[in-house]
Amino acid sequence: MKPFRYERAADAAGAVATVAAHPGAAFLGAGTNLVDHLKLGITAPDLLVDVTRLPMDQVEELDGGGLRIGANVRNADLAAHPAVRSRYPVLSQALLSGASGQLRNLATTGGNLLQRTRCAYFQDPSAPCNKRDPGSGCAALKGWTRYHAILGASSHCVAVHPSDMAVAMSALGAVVVTLGPDGERRIPLTEFHRLPGDAPHRDTVLQHGELITAVELPALPYAARSRYRKVRDRASYAFALVSVAVALDLEDDGRTVREARIALGGIAHKPWRAERAEEALRGLPATEENCRAAAEAETADAHPLRDNAFKVPLVQNTLVAVVRELVPETPGAAGLEGSR
Ligand SMILES: Cc1cc2nc3c(=O)[nH]c(=O)nc-3n(C[C@H](O)[C@H](O)[C@H](O)COP(=O)(O)OP(=O)(O)OC[C@H]3O[C@@H](n4cnc5c(N)ncnc54)[C@H](O)[C@@H]3O)c2cc1C
Repeated sequence: MKPFRYERAADAAGAVATVAAHPGAAFLGAGTNLVDHLKLGITAPDLLVDVTRLPMDQVEELDGGGLRIGANVRNADLAAHPAVRSRYPVLSQALLSGASGQLRNLATTGGNLLQRTRCAYFQDPSAPCNKRDPGSGCAALKGWTRYHAILGASSHCVAVHPSDMAVAMSALGAVVVTLGPDGERRIPLTEFHRLPGDAPHRDTVLQHGELITAVELPALPYAARSRYRKVRDRASYAFALVSVAVALDLEDDGRTVREARIALGGIAHKPWRAERAEEALRGLPATEENCRAAAEAETADAHPLRDNAFKVPLVQNTLVAVVRELVPETPGAAGLEGSR
C-alpha cells in the first residue's frame, strides 16, 4: 500500500479546504470501502481526511415532516431509527438488506452513497477498466457479465451501482446536501449519480473536495406504504442481482394508484428511478396486468449482455410482485402492515 498521511477533521469547512487544496486527498468515512480499495491498489490517495468526528451524526425532523440525515449517521442506526421504520420503511429494509451487521454498524450515510462499483474487473488492478484507469478499456464487455448493467450502460462501462440505501432514497425523492469550496449545494439524488457515458470514472456530480453533510428526505406520508426487495445469489451478505423499491399512494378504493415512486437497483450505473413505470401506473388499478405493462415499459430499452438476459424478466417480475404486495386487495399480500 502506498504511504499516506492521515488527518482528523476539526470542522467541515476545514475538511473541505484541505481536500480541495490537495488533488491527491480524499475524505474518509468508516473506511469499509475506501480502505479495501487502498489495500487492493485501486486507489492511492496521499492524504486521508477523516470526517467521522464532525457533528453530522443526527437524524433530525424537518419543518413540514421530512427528515434530515447527517452524513455520519451509521447505516445500522438509520435502519433502526423509529421515524425511518414507521414513515419510510423502504429505507429501513434497504439498509438491513445490505452488507452484514458489523459493516452496517460502521458504514456511514455519506460513504454508502459514494461506495464504488463491485464490478470484478474494477476491483482487479490487472484488468483494463475505464472506471479505475480512464482510457484503458473495459474488460467486462467481453467478460463475465452476470452482475452487470442492462439499462443506461455505454461502450465504456457496463458496471452497476452497488448501494441498496441509495435505491430506496431515490424512490423517496431524497436530496443530497453538500459543502464544497463554493459553498452549500442541494442535489436531488436522482441527479447525484451519473450514467457512465464516456467518463465512467466520475461516479457522481461531486467536485473534488465537496463534502456530503446530510441527506434530506421530503415529507411523503404515503411512503408508510413502501417496500424494498432485493434478489441475490445468497440469502444474505451479497450484492443485488436486481432490487426494487416502491412507495405507493392509493385512492380511497384501496387499489387505484394515485402516485407510485419506484426505483431499481443492480441494473444500471446509478440507482434507476423507474419513471416510465410510475407514469404507466398512475390512475390505474394496480392489477397484475397493469403492473406488468408498467414493468415492461420500464425495461423496453434494456440491453442485456452475454450473461445477464435473466435480469430483464427478473426485474419485471420483482417490480410486479412488490407493487402488488402493497395493494391490500391482493390475495396473500401483506399490504401496509407487512411493509413495516
Ligand atoms: C463485504 C461487504 C459487503 C457489502 N455488502 C453491501 C450490500 O449488500 N449493499 C450495500 O449497499 N453495500 C454493501 N457494502 C458496502 C458498504 O455499505 C459500504 O462499504 C459503506 O456503506 C461505505 O461507507 P463508509 O462510511 O465505510 O465509506 P468509506 O469507505 O469511508 O468511503 C467511501 C467513499 O466515500 C467517500 N466519503 C465518505 N464520507 C464522505 C462524505 N461525508 N462526503 C464526501 N465523501 C465521503 C470516501 O472518500 C470514499 O470515496 C458491503 C461492503 C463490504 C465490505
